[in-house]
Amino acid sequence: MELHSIEAKSGLSRARYPESFLVSLYRALAPYRGCAHGCLYCDGRAEKYYVDGDFTRDIQIRENLPDLVARDVDGGTASREYGAVCIGSGVTDVYQGAERERGITRATLEHLSRAGIPIVILTKNNLILRDFDILSRFPAALIITTITTVNEKDARFLEPGATPPSGRLEIVRKAKEHGFFAGIMAMPLCPGISDGESSFAALLDAAQEVGADFVYPGGLTLRPGRQKDAFMALVDSRYPDLRPLYNDLYRENRQSGMPLASASAVLHARLDRMVRTRGMSQMIPHRVYRSLLSAPDSLFVLFCHMQNLYQMRGVDTRPLKAATDRYAEWLGEARTALRRKRGAGSFPGTFPVTGELTERLLELSATGNLSLILRNDRLTALASEILNGGVYFDYPSLSIVSG
Ligand code: SF4
Repeated sequence: MELHSIEAKSGLSRARYPESFLVSLYRALAPYRGCAHGCLYCDGRAEKYYVDGDFTRDIQIRENLPDLVARDVDGGTASREYGAVCIGSGVTDVYQGAERERGITRATLEHLSRAGIPIVILTKNNLILRDFDILSRFPAALIITTITTVNEKDARFLEPGATPPSGRLEIVRKAKEHGFFAGIMAMPLCPGISDGESSFAALLDAAQEVGADFVYPGGLTLRPGRQKDAFMALVDSRYPDLRPLYNDLYRENRQSGMPLASASAVLHARLDRMVRTRGMSQMIPHRVYRSLLSAPDSLFVLFCHMQNLYQMRGVDTRPLKAATDRYAEWLGEARTALRRKRGAGSFPGTFPVTGELTERLLELSATGNLSLILRNDRLTALASEILNGGVYFDYPSLSIVSG
């Protein structure tokens, strides 16, 4: 492994809307680029991400990231808006071997822990256990680990440098014991290797046993070029009988890497059913991210997730999408106006933008004006009930639950 220094251009930076996949308001921080875990399916190898050199051997390090984050935390960037920051990305693992040597992730967390905002961390390495002391200082922490199979032999072929699946399950168990939220990204499930009914059922059993808050499944994409080449080499060497299946599923060579749409739809319907029938959540649940985001932002994420949830059940989601778009417009404009107001005279750290945004939303709800934005009676009633507190939207049952 060779370590190369590169410069981080930014530290803590807020987005206009929360990111609904990893439920965070701040743009993701990535102390490294490239990944020595060397997962053969890794999308980060794709040319699209411009990671220079050998993806698994040439690891780039943003050594100045902790300083930039410290500058932003001390400057009050975070204290003005409550919302999670995610550390991790699709082109690196923040707890790979380089972290053991350089500690950039730990140093970044040290500074972030002073900001008063929640944290979301994504990793396949149990080195994260080292940092549970710092994670305890955040107002809320969500730890996500990817597990695509509990078959240790397949995992050794697929994810040679990552902590074995049993160790990753222990991350979830220990995270829950520490009072953190913890869930599993079960993606990518690889055709014929880890996407079968029994393989996924075993993963769900294990996830339930360690108390995972969710299992978020997804299929394999193979972008033509370095990513597809690496994976097909694995298929040829370890799973040669599956070559015809892969040739067929990925014959369209789409730039997105997606397999045949018909196969993908069947797979997702099955995975969704399997997660749901166990009463588990197939996405990061509302009861989790309502602690990670402000009320206006968590409502936005809920509307986005509801589109996926209802779509998977064959419901026409166009009215929901239209209402979400209108809500997004209100949210974006209200937030921009408040940020401008702060820029016009108030001091860093003294203007609780999110607090004011939440107050505005509550007022809209109390005066009945939220319905003018959403123009959807059922959604307005649901939003008002959630804003009144003490309830959340349960994904498996698609209903409001007390708690
Ligand atoms: S741990 Fe994540 S970033 Fe690293 S190789 Fe595996 S999939 Fe890629």
